[in-house]
Amino acid sequence: MNINHLHKASFFLSDKEKVKCLLCPKECIIVDGKTGFCGVRKNIDGTLYSLVYGKPVAVHIDPIEKKPLYHFYPGSEILSIGTFGCNLSCQFCQNHDISQADKHKIESLEKQKELTPEDLISICKKNNLEFLAFTYNEPVIFYEYMLETAILCKKNNIKTVMVSNGQINPKPLLNIIEFIDAFNIDLKSFNDNFYKEICNGKLEATKETIRIIAEHKKHIEITFLLIKDFNDNEQEFNELCKFIKSVNPEIVLHISRAFPRYKLEIKTTPVDLLNKFKDTALKYLKNVYTGNV
Ligand code: SF4
Repeated sequence: MNINHLHKASFFLSDKEKVKCLLCPKECIIVDGKTGFCGVRKNIDGTLYSLVYGKPVAVHIDPIEKKPLYHFYPGSEILSIGTFGCNLSCQFCQNHDISQADKHKIESLEKQKELTPEDLISICKKNNLEFLAFTYNEPVIFYEYMLETAILCKKNNIKTVMVSNGQINPKPLLNIIEFIDAFNIDLKSFNDNFYKEICNGKLEATKETIRIIAEHKKHIEITFLLIKDFNDNEQEFNELCKFIKSVNPEIVLHISRAFPRYKLEIKTTPVDLLNKFKDTALKYLKNVYTGNV
């Protein structure tokens, strides 16, 4: 691997043999030559590098409602980019072809021409786009690319959107928050065991991210992917809605339909169940929508 073309990662500690990545709550300890859980941050001789800086594998122009964002410049189109990799491994992932890409696919990126933050601004300008989203996979794992692009967007009057699972440590979040205009955060369940066993994550980390974003008065919408027989416990969903209300009752909640996709054997969420959960959420929140129907 030619390290001259790689971008150094931020938020890590090194003792020369192993590094500790401090970007997300996984806080991976990574020995020389290996990558962390997300597969895209590699220890090379005691320095952590991003393998996905400038290497998006999905670049599309979408309606902003597809993020989903319903209360942020509705009707706009948004340049949307994503890379390989994720810091979770949700067994029901709806985007696993890129989020859970294997080592060989990630290594093949070395040959892919870099699409720089400047190139992304040029694409926006050429297409008269005023919005850019970091989405499709988990943007936290391409943090450096996202941050440099977001800073450049600010200078060019382009608004930025981060669509995330919220699994990021507070320090890197606070470091980027001023450059992101709107967030959509996935809140997958209100049960920490669900986060641990089905997603390999931590509920509290996502809750803290939501609190921090709201404290900074940034636009935030939340997505809850409803999966029949897995996260459809009504009491837990009531608690989830109460939590959002306690942060800000104006926050928009999207209750999205799940489809069988990856490892978990699930049924497509029945529309009746989505509507029932929407009615429950409306007891606490003003802005609730069903999605993927
Ligand atoms: S960003 Fe990746 S390498 Fe860093 S702690 Fe999270 S999963 Fe581990």
